[in-house]
Amino acid sequence: MQALAERLDAALVGAELRRAVMLGFSGLKTALPAPEALVGRTVTSVGRRGKYLIFDLEGGFRVLVHLSQGGRLDLEDPPRTTKPRGSVVRFVFDRPPAVLVREHGTQRKAGWWVLAPGDDGPLGALGPDPFSDEFAELIEHGDTTRHLHTLLRDQRVVAGIGRGWADDALHRAGLSPFASLRSLDQAKRARLLEAVRSVLTEALEGERGRPGGLSEAKLGGRFAIHNRSGQPCPVCGESLRRVSFESHEIVYCTHCQTGGKVLADRRLSRLLR
Ligand SMILES: [Zn+2]
Repeated sequence: MQALAERLDAALVGAELRRAVMLGFSGLKTALPAPEALVGRTVTSVGRRGKYLIFDLEGGFRVLVHLSQGGRLDLEDPPRTTKPRGSVVRFVFDRPPAVLVREHGTQRKAGWWVLAPGDDGPLGALGPDPFSDEFAELIEHGDTTRHLHTLLRDQRVVAGIGRGWADDALHRAGLSPFASLRSLDQAKRARLLEAVRSVLTEALEGERGRPGGLSEAKLGGRFAIHNRSGQPCPVCGESLRRVSFESHEIVYCTHCQTGGKVLADRRLSRLLR
């Protein structure tokens, strides 16, 4: 996502928005200001916070785009007027490329926001960046009993770590996804912080070096253990396991992370409680 923001920044800074063409009804999450308020404004930067792409426009206006699970973003040069399946919005500038946001799948929808100057919209609820001192402070001194996997994925706690990177970071740190911060000594906390940051840094390097279009959002092959249950652990060769938790699956290694213990499915037991 960071690399995507960097590519968009390189392509769009200095371009003046001509039109925001709504192609889907449910994508726009704000009523005011209307997208027309953006017309004639120049893009000053494109960045990222958590899972949001942030387009800064002249005058302090911002457009947020959340691609969610199935969202894609295409740069069109030359700009098109077609409406491919799943289209959400197309931003057309005074010069190519245009930006088309679209989505596959039906469950987790891509969305976009138009923010007036000074309005943080959904960014206001986001926790600190994983590379911030604030996040380091939390990992080093936090006393919560929440499961580490749940904690890392909570966007209000730390912005931008999804399920895949949570799986990989906990595996690299050698920690059980169901352990809590409270249960960790200082050495383990330091390992966790280092693992989160190194996994994300390597992910960014991989993303920057990835050939192909912006729309290739498939990350599957890039995870060390996420989505790889049944395959050998890349560190010890043990078969990776998965455990259901709430609405998703966590992948882990019994040898590297849980001292041989097989984690029990938490989905059913939660329902029965
Ligand atoms: Zn292992």
